[in-house]
Amino acid sequence: MEKSQLENELTRRGLKLTKPRQAILNALASETGWITASDLYDRLLIDHPRMDFSTVCRNLDTLSGLGLLCRVDRDNKGAFAYCLPEMHAHHHHLICRICGKVNPLDFCPLQQLSNSQTGEFKDLECRFEVYGICKDCQAKNE
Ligand SMILES: [Zn+2]
Ligand SMILES: [Zn+2]
Ligand SMILES: [Zn+2]
Repeated sequence: MEKSQLENELTRRGLKLTKPRQAILNALASETGWITASDLYDRLLIDHPRMDFSTVCRNLDTLSGLGLLCRVDRDNKGAFAYCLPEMHAHHHHLICRICGKVNPLDFCPLQQLSNSQTGEFKDLECRFEVYGICKDCQAKNE
């Protein structure tokens, strides 16, 4: 998704395009791949020396919670990496456990669940990540 689309989406949902949010989206837009919160923070400090880490984390949480950023647990240890969404629709990711490559998966298991299964729960949030070994890494090990 383009940064300008994200900014429109943000305001459409009634969220302010605050300075930190703008700075975060700019920094992510200039990245070619996924970046962890702490690496992103180091990047942001160059132009925004007064930004603090908790602000960055809080905004990354909010934006990814709304699906305006993608978030993956790339090493499966809870150190999240972020990037601008590769596609518009809600989706999940396929992650290489050796090199950390991430491919979007145009699939959501939540859609397979019926109301009788999720019944009393509302505000469902789905976390679904698939780990494997990518083609490149398979070739290196042969
Ligand atoms: Zn994604
Ligand atoms: Zn790999
Ligand atoms: Zn989902």
